[in-house]
Amino acid sequence: MHPTLEPIHQRVLDRNPGETEFHQAVHEVLESIGPAVDKHPEYAEARIVERICEPERQIIFRVPWEDDDGDIHINRGFRVEFNSALGPFKGGLRFHPTVLLGTVKFLGFEQIFKNALTGLPIGGGKGGSDFDPRGRSDREIMRFCQSFMTELYRHLGEYTDVPAGDMGVGGRELGYLFGQYKRITNRYESGVLTGKALAFGGAQVRREATGYGSAFFARRALEVRGDSLEGKDVVVSGSGNVALYTVEKVHQLGGRVVAVSDSDGVVHDPQGVDLELLKDIKEVRRERLRVYTDKIGRAEFSTDRSIWDVPCQVALPSATQNELDADGARALLRSGCRFVGEGANMPTTPDGVEVLREGGVIFAPGKAANAGGVAASALEMQQNASRDSWSFEYSENRLSEIMTDIHDRCHATAEEYGRPGDYVAGANIAGYARVADAMLALGLV
Ligand code: GLU
Repeated sequence: MHPTLEPIHQRVLDRNPGETEFHQAVHEVLESIGPAVDKHPEYAEARIVERICEPERQIIFRVPWEDDDGDIHINRGFRVEFNSALGPFKGGLRFHPTVLLGTVKFLGFEQIFKNALTGLPIGGGKGGSDFDPRGRSDREIMRFCQSFMTELYRHLGEYTDVPAGDMGVGGRELGYLFGQYKRITNRYESGVLTGKALAFGGAQVRREATGYGSAFFARRALEVRGDSLEGKDVVVSGSGNVALYTVEKVHQLGGRVVAVSDSDGVVHDPQGVDLELLKDIKEVRRERLRVYTDKIGRAEFSTDRSIWDVPCQVALPSATQNELDADGARALLRSGCRFVGEGANMPTTPDGVEVLREGGVIFAPGKAANAGGVAASALEMQQNASRDSWSFEYSENRLSEIMTDIHDRCHATAEEYGRPGDYVAGANIAGYARVADAMLALGLV
């Protein structure tokens, strides 16, 4: 780490005790922006790094709700409004029992740089709750979302803070959240949430965008090296929204996804996973992945096998943070994997990244590779602001161009700062410089 960043880093650790995921995300960025520190003394003078590491505002609130049996539950809600130099705070909401303040801060911090890389006018934020949606009825989900929004609405606005989905929050939840926002504020303010269903102001391709974008990034990274996804065996961890639409686009681009997973285990289907069946299981029936083998006898479901042991040339970790560790990375190296692109946020541990780097694997960090989701959200905001809606084809082309631009910017920045091929350095420096320039221009705020 650049010597001037070390005390800043230490102060972040001391002031945010126990927030290990936030520490990890900050460390990764500070470690790689050293070359920008040397080139831009004006950033240090304005204390840009110190300011970026401190959220503009953090909101923590009680979310009481009643289940179908009349029992009362109390959850905790969060919204961390990290940085609004480039536009309104923008980032998803995660509903998962493991969510702590440090989780939301890690995600919000990553979001600042990711959103900057899209080149679109969006700041960074994130929110969520430790609510566990698993096994809850529609009515319970609705009551929870209504209670959550009853506090959160006062902090939101299309020019202030614009949440979207993340793990545990999709079209259904955003519908209930938007319904309650509209009811409380008496405003049909479409641009206050993104990832909405098409029935009420949503945009084409938003649902597909994170997964499609991750596949587009992989395509471009291989293309600049004279290679492609054509004929490649691909492993996609997870089976949520990101994973499903990654599978769809990888198949359309000629690759074959041979394994997917959920927190119970791994499906290995050497002939290529059946996407329609996966969508039916996960999106329609909302069931666990293990039922896949009821229909597809050739596939195996395993609870003790790591997905990274399935041989592949391309791996796209698309489930959750820290799911690909050094052992997993070594297994990928053994099977000849050439490219790893993070569909999820921070799915690779620092040791895992090190192993991949030393093994010469091309590694695309989430803030670049999975930026397609939030980029499509910014396009949704644009359509909402102009009361327009674009076709699927036009929207997908825009997304594809944005992903190519993000790739090329990271690639060129890495070269410019003497780290050729290092997408982590390229993404962090390019994202950081865009936010830093805006912060300088806005004065000490
Ligand atoms: N949760 C997504 C992400 O990690 C999307 C955020 C958004 O669309 O605002 O980038």
